[in-house]
Amino acid sequence: MQSLDLFARNKLADLDQRSLRRRLVDQDRQDAIWIERDGRRLLSFSCNDYLNLSQHPLVKASAIAAVERWGVGSCSSRLVTGNHPLYSQLETRLAELKGAEAACVFGAGYLANTGIIPALVGKGDLIVLDELAHACIWAGARMSGATVLAFRHNDVEHAAELLTRERARHRHALLATDGVFSMDGDLAPVPALAALAQAHDAWLMTDDAHGIGVLGGGRGSSYAFAAGKPSVPLQMGTLSKAVGGYGGYLCASAPVIDLIKTRARTVIYSTGLPPATVAAALTALEIIAAEPELCARPVIKARRFTRRLGLPDAESPIVPLILGSAEDTLAAQQALADAGFLVTAIRAPTVPEGTARLRITFTAAHSDESVDALADVIAARVLKRD
Ligand SMILES: *Cc1c(COP(=O)(O)O)cnc(C)c1O
Repeated sequence: MQSLDLFARNKLADLDQRSLRRRLVDQDRQDAIWIERDGRRLLSFSCNDYLNLSQHPLVKASAIAAVERWGVGSCSSRLVTGNHPLYSQLETRLAELKGAEAACVFGAGYLANTGIIPALVGKGDLIVLDELAHACIWAGARMSGATVLAFRHNDVEHAAELLTRERARHRHALLATDGVFSMDGDLAPVPALAALAQAHDAWLMTDDAHGIGVLGGGRGSSYAFAAGKPSVPLQMGTLSKAVGGYGGYLCASAPVIDLIKTRARTVIYSTGLPPATVAAALTALEIIAAEPELCARPVIKARRFTRRLGLPDAESPIVPLILGSAEDTLAAQQALADAGFLVTAIRAPTVPEGTARLRITFTAAHSDESVDALADVIAARVLKRD
């Protein structure tokens, strides 16, 4: 056997043995919340389409119209010929929603973080980030060549300790965190981090992939705190979750956005988004800006669920049920599928070893009855409370 194939087989065998192998399964979407999988119709509590905008008639219509007008691809980098006129409309809309001067749209959230961070900091600079920050924040941080230090999850004192010790030895400092943690559903203490960043002349970046559209009336985690809007000079996020389509963004001041558009490698060296994708995001953002009650609904559903199970109140549309082992979590996923629910197991390395979990997400379209039914099945078959 070729050494390459042997290498792959051995790796796979090891992953199989530890219940860590992942497999792609066809997911045939029936509508906003129903999915057919393995020939069975399941009610999904695993999609990030919190407002069901991926299926919204107006969003679909604007994508179709853009295909008719501009075709299916953008055909080059935005800096060459890929910058069709919808981009500037979308960026204006995004900046408005986030209360920023300007915005830059990227091909995806992953491309945003791996483009933004190395464009702003490098060798001789410092990055202080939450240990549970999303994989693509870590990827961007490592690619930058800056010194990278992690603080314990949501521990502002630990972040302060690191900045006090290290800040003076570095030219610039970036303080980075998820606004809403993607696998835990909790919020970062954004106001305290903003104060800390200001005290140390560090640049605060929040990744609001799971905040836009669902927190702060749809404007994201910067608007979710009673004390008012903290200063977050770098508001990053994605168009792939509540916005329902695909793409990433950064909202910031005009000079920062100008710099990103000329220096971020994932803008320069990657093809622009298809026009239909930009058109869909633009319509979705208009719906988000116009319908704060729709935006509030996913968290209301999540809270209904946590209250029914006697868990701490959900802070976002994401509720984790940490079961520990990968085997137990896969068994729980199967038990829920047998009951008609799609809730996928999340295992290492997406979450730390020993903290495998069911990650349950709620959308505006879930009925109260189905939220209650899921909670009751989980109580009986996963938590075994009967
Ligand atoms: C999903 C996610 C991303 C990546 O966004 P994509 O648009 O899917 O590439 C980045 N950060 C966080 C916190 C996420 O949950």
